[in-house]
Amino acid sequence: MKELIGMSLSELKEKLDKKEMSTVELVRAYLDAFEADRKHEKPLNGYIEVFRDSIEKAEKADEARVRGSARPLEGLPFAVKDNIVIKGKHATCASGVLKGFCSPYSATVVKRLVDAGMIPLGRTNMDEFGMGSSCEYSIYGATRNPVDRDLTPGGSSGGSAAVVASGQAPVALGTETGGSVRTPASYCGVYGLKPSYGTLSRYGVVAYGSSLDQIGILAKTPQDIALMLSFAAGADPHDMTSAPTNFTNCSPLKERDIKGLKVLLPTEFLGEGIDPGIKQKVESFAQWFKKNGAQVDTDSVPILQAAVAIYYIIAPAEASSNLARYDGVRYGNRVRQTANLEEMYVKTRSEGFGKEVKRRIFIGNYVLSSGYYDAYYKKAMQVRTLLRREIEKVFSKYDLILSPTSPCPPFKLGEKVDDPLAMYLTDICTTFSNLALIPSLSVPVGTTGAGLPVGVQLAGNRFREDLLLEVAAMYHKEGSR
Ligand code: GLN
Repeated sequence: MKELIGMSLSELKEKLDKKEMSTVELVRAYLDAFEADRKHEKPLNGYIEVFRDSIEKAEKADEARVRGSARPLEGLPFAVKDNIVIKGKHATCASGVLKGFCSPYSATVVKRLVDAGMIPLGRTNMDEFGMGSSCEYSIYGATRNPVDRDLTPGGSSGGSAAVVASGQAPVALGTETGGSVRTPASYCGVYGLKPSYGTLSRYGVVAYGSSLDQIGILAKTPQDIALMLSFAAGADPHDMTSAPTNFTNCSPLKERDIKGLKVLLPTEFLGEGIDPGIKQKVESFAQWFKKNGAQVDTDSVPILQAAVAIYYIIAPAEASSNLARYDGVRYGNRVRQTANLEEMYVKTRSEGFGKEVKRRIFIGNYVLSSGYYDAYYKKAMQVRTLLRREIEKVFSKYDLILSPTSPCPPFKLGEKVDDPLAMYLTDICTTFSNLALIPSLSVPVGTTGAGLPVGVQLAGNRFREDLLLEVAAMYHKEGSR
């Protein structure tokens, strides 16, 4: 029998509904998996903290089931990235500056899932404030890849991907500013959805780049993502950028006819810098589309080449402003032995932030400073508008954009940590969808010749998450991976 911790959320839901197991048994299984892993000579370090009160919550869920008052997702556990707040729990964004911060409220998405019956299992590790692609820039140390513990799980939601891939949680929330859900999903061999900007409320997500940030979902199947989305999405009065979309009908996913779909394969994501093993996986996904009657065109969309450059101006610019609030006065940690207020600010920030976060603050302040604003920030904003228009044009002709998720397979821990440019370049295929506000899904498609997980990315028009998930489910079902 497939072990509990290897099951998808939907399989677990069925087992709970049929009373084939208790919630306590289930939650224990994940906590035990976590404890067992801690004894490994190289622990995964996917969780920063597991919540012991999840057992009590599981007991309550079991009682509700006995009473016949179980809610739709009663007793199903999930993990939460450390930059999404949960009432009464710490949230640190893996940063020294927020050490000790305890949240007085829950993020809307967390609240909606908890109101539907789900149980938060713990907080997952990440790159500090979401800045990174390898889950190494964390005060809690790096997370390891469950497939090979000497490799990165990807970042910044590396902890979320690692706990799902290793059976320490059935599903997890991550966040995306420029690939932080999709990259780790692809490196760990799970599904990762970055929804359209506005699909999920950002209320309770610690801001990094507010015009790009979005909660994402990591899971073992597209159906599991659809199930979560159906409860978590929808307008939120606390977040004016949330959209009045309705995903309540997206689960269960419908059968999708692949025939007649129009798919674009941009040459920009198949050329130089793309690992040949990954390229081959993208091409075989294109073959699967064709075999099932879709039209697949290969064509150039030149502006896609600019995405990563625009991103690394806009994201740091927004971050430099968003992170100004961590000055030791209101949140988290404060350095106390200082002569005056100015010194308190300086020491708190100098000691609290890690080196990558500081680099982003420097870049952000530079591109926003007078004399450079027009050349960098303003120019990046203009090119972003052009990119959005080009993407709109693509979707007036096509249903989907197909590409690699990452240009490379998971790399060794330590390999790129001192080479920021190399690290930034791992984001070349993902950032365009954040800039264009569209949804994208990383689909696990097996491994390279060397046995390393590969993710293929499907991007769709804004609010077409349903299409991405349905297509992926058809692919998943055929076991073509
Ligand atoms: N690698 C990107 C960055 O460092 C990813 C960020 C993200 O999506 N949170 O900015």
